[in-house]
Amino acid sequence: MNSIRAAFTDIPASGAVQEVADGVLWLRMPLPFALDHINLYLVDDGDGWVAIDSGLVGESTREHWRRVIDQSLDGRPLKALLVTHYHPDHLGSAGWLCEAFGIPLWITAPEYQAAEFLLCERSETVRATQCAYYRSLGMSAEQLDTVRAQLQRMASAYDPLPPLGQVLDAGDELHLGGRHWQVRLATGHSPAHAVLYSPELGVMLAGDQVLPRISSNVGIYPERLDTDPLGHWLESLERLQQWPDDTLVLPAHNEPFYGLHRRLQELRDDHAGKLKQLESFCLEPRTVMELVPLLYPRPLGGMDLMLAAGECLAHLEYLVQRNGLVRETDAEGIWHFCVL
Ligand SMILES: [Zn+2]
Repeated sequence: MNSIRAAFTDIPASGAVQEVADGVLWLRMPLPFALDHINLYLVDDGDGWVAIDSGLVGESTREHWRRVIDQSLDGRPLKALLVTHYHPDHLGSAGWLCEAFGIPLWITAPEYQAAEFLLCERSETVRATQCAYYRSLGMSAEQLDTVRAQLQRMASAYDPLPPLGQVLDAGDELHLGGRHWQVRLATGHSPAHAVLYSPELGVMLAGDQVLPRISSNVGIYPERLDTDPLGHWLESLERLQQWPDDTLVLPAHNEPFYGLHRRLQELRDDHAGKLKQLESFCLEPRTVMELVPLLYPRPLGGMDLMLAAGECLAHLEYLVQRNGLVRETDAEGIWHFCVL
């Protein structure tokens, strides 16, 4: 098993491109968060380019796209936008990009549906359902206020969704610029995240499925109907093992790298460690919000708190479904987890 090593010494400046494989460009875009960038990619398709992910909503992303299209694509147009999954840094600008350049959106159906759900979040019923869910985790009134504000902001993290163009599905093969790209779906970080692999190039477009230095969030959220995302995530990691260890992995965050199998093992080990910790914390009944500071001992606010709670719950439910823990609901509807 190879160790993990960066594939390139240089990182392109924001809004600049760098060729990372024959006919594949790496485009770095800024993000206004602690995670301050996203990697987008462009795949040569002969008379134009297929963009992989759109970047976050907003003027800064648009400016970068306009400059790249004007200066870095040999005068050839964008032909399509392929979005790996529905999270706003990947899909947020899709509405603008598809409309401004007259291109279709390629995405899996469950990812499109998840975004549609988030965007109709302004409905009071939906918001009440979401708040009831977070209350059952044991959130305080103050934490629920933070979550409410966060959910409201989420709806504005997207341009209006473009129409669904090509629906991607497991087992599809795309032919781009004379090369084959196998489409596989991964579940856990999002409902049906598309991962692409080109055997000719030995290149994988990994989205958020395999990141070299950070672990992708795997959580249970009210906009998703998956009650065992961690189980599905671990199965997805197993399936990615089928691709060669010397694959050049092009992730959506951090930098392109080699060492696919080692990284898959590290990700599995990280979740196994969290499961062990939770079992030891649950010797007496605990709510999710009591467990979050034990599992993530650092200050968490807003979005981070929601993500931590969702991920903690995903690990707890994984154990419940495999008879490691029991979940009980008290008179106020709050869940408590305890070892059997
Ligand atoms: Zn994501």
